[in-house]
Order: sequence, then C-alpha cells, then structure tokens
Amino acid sequence: MITHVSEAAISVRGLRKGYGDVQAVDGVDFEIAFGECFALLGPNGAGKTTVTEILEGYRSRDDGTAEVLGIDPGHGDRHWRSQLGIVLQSDRDLGDLTVAEAVHHFAGYYPDPRDPDEVIKAVGLTEKHKSRNLKLSGGQRRRLDVALGIIGRPRVLFLDEPTTGFDPEARRDFWELIEGLKAEGTTILLTTHYLEEAEHLADRVAVIARGRVVACGSPAELGGRTRGLTRVHWLEDGTLHDVRTEEPTRVVLELSARFGGEVPGLGVDRARLEDVYLSLLDGDREAADEDFAQGGDAE
Ligand code: ATP
Repeated sequence: MITHVSEAAISVRGLRKGYGDVQAVDGVDFEIAFGECFALLGPNGAGKTTVTEILEGYRSRDDGTAEVLGIDPGHGDRHWRSQLGIVLQSDRDLGDLTVAEAVHHFAGYYPDPRDPDEVIKAVGLTEKHKSRNLKLSGGQRRRLDVALGIIGRPRVLFLDEPTTGFDPEARRDFWELIEGLKAEGTTILLTTHYLEEAEHLADRVAVIARGRVVACGSPAELGGRTRGLTRVHWLEDGTLHDVRTEEPTRVVLELSARFGGEVPGLGVDRARLEDVYLSLLDGDREAADEDFAQGGDAE
C-alpha cells in the first residue's frame, strides 16, 4: 500500500463516474481539510452518493484521483477502513439484533471504540436499547445507523443524508452530537437535502448539479455571491412593498428620507443559503436547456 503525503484529509481531482449513458459524476474537484465539516448539497440524482461511495471505497471511479487520509479508497486496507465512520443512505442489514447488541457488536471491529452505552445515549436510544432493530421507527433506525457510524471513533465521518426521517427535535439533538464530534477534530463529509442543516453544520458547502460542482464556499461566502437577493420590505398605503437589491443600505436610507424618519414595517432579509442554492440550480437548469437547444450533451 502506498501512502501519499497529503495536507488534506480528503482530496478529489477530476473525478468521473458513468453508469451506461448517465454521467453521474462529471469532473469533480474538492479538498477537505482535517477537522473540517464539508457538505455536498444538490437535488436528487446530482451525484452526491456516487462521490461519497467512491471515497468510502464502495464504488470504483472511471477517471480522476481520490485520496482519503492519504490513501486511494480503491486500495484501502483494514487499518484505513478502521479510521472511517460511515452512515450510508441505505440501512445496514443487522438481522434481528437489538440496539445494544448491534452497537456492542460493531464496537468489537475497532481498535479504540467509544463506550457503546455512551454512544447509545448520545443518539437518544437509551430507552430503546433492548428493542430489536427491525421494530424501530424510521427515525430511530437512522439514529442507530449514526451510532454505528461513530462507534469506532472515526477520524473521517461520512454522513449520507443522516437525518432523513428525523423529527425536528431529533435533528437538533443530532446537530449537537455532530458539533461535539467536530470539536474533537473529526473530519466530516455530509450530504444532505436540508439547507438549514448544511448552513448550521458545514464550514464549507459544495453545490453539486448534474455531476458537477456549480459553487463551493462557506455558507456566508455563498450568501455573499448573490447580494442581489437581499430583500427590503416595508408597509406603504396599507400594503406590503418589497424590492430585491444589492444595496440594501441605500434603499433603506432612501425610504427613510421619503418617510421622513421611521419606515413603517421595515424589514431586511439577507439571502439565506436556500435562496442561493435555488438560484444556482435555476442557472444550471438554464444552461442545461441551452445545451439541449443547441443539440449539445445535456445529460
Ligand atoms: P439523491 O439525492 O437522490 O440520493 P444523489 O445526488 O446521491 O441523489 P446519485 O445516487 O449519486 O445521486 O446518482 C447520480 C446519478 O447516477 C443518477 O442519475 C442515478 O440514477 C445514477 N445512478 C446511481 N447509481 C447507479 C447505479 N448503481 N446504476 C445506474 N445508475 C446509477
């Protein structure tokens, strides 16, 4: 096994993967620093799971390079794998094990596991520790998946849509758990459809569409890309008025001058990641339509 010297915990260059006619991953590049939480955001079928599973060593790639902890995932050995925590999109087959049996059993695979009972508590399953996994609700089953992903004290944690099926309280608890892991220095690659989750947890976000990264940056940087999305709204003649502007301060000053001071019902909404994400996907869809109209390869 060849170990490369790498500054990044995860690095991906020119990654490509096709399934028949579908180019699922079409030249993806990114690097994730040690201790960073990096989110892949994108619509269904964008290629997020394919990228993640290539990095986990579960899928082969057609082209490009990939390294996780300095190792090509296609050639990772047991020691390399023991440093990864993986929460797949699909459930693991756990037979009829109870929660406690499953977590204790998985702890045995790792050289320095966390305390199984602590992990069960951290994911909020203490009351269910004697329940068979087949009898758990969807959200509880997902929590068990998360428990199995973190039991080995991973250096790199892959979370593929980890909070699907969680109620809002469970999602908040999960975020706290992840923040604790971040504070311990765990590197995290998260895929999610929940923009709020990416905004809350991720240091950087890559928006992926049709197998390509269409934008990458911190949630604040992505927000800054589309200043034109800042919305200023106020009440005038009994109705709500609003404008979208790149210069909210100027608009507020003009309104204030016009109203001679206080502006009734004034509000300024900075663009949230959700607005940015939707505008990026709109742009990508327009590009795809143009490709198609020109007879290009619109995949
Ligand atoms: P989702 O958010 O729905 O999970 P995703 O962004 O994770 O989507 P992928 O699962 O990576 O997307 O799929 C990317 C594309 O590749 C899709 O068009 C999908 O249909 C296709 N694809 C994925 N896995 C396979 C496979 N095993 N065989 C054939 N096509 C596949």
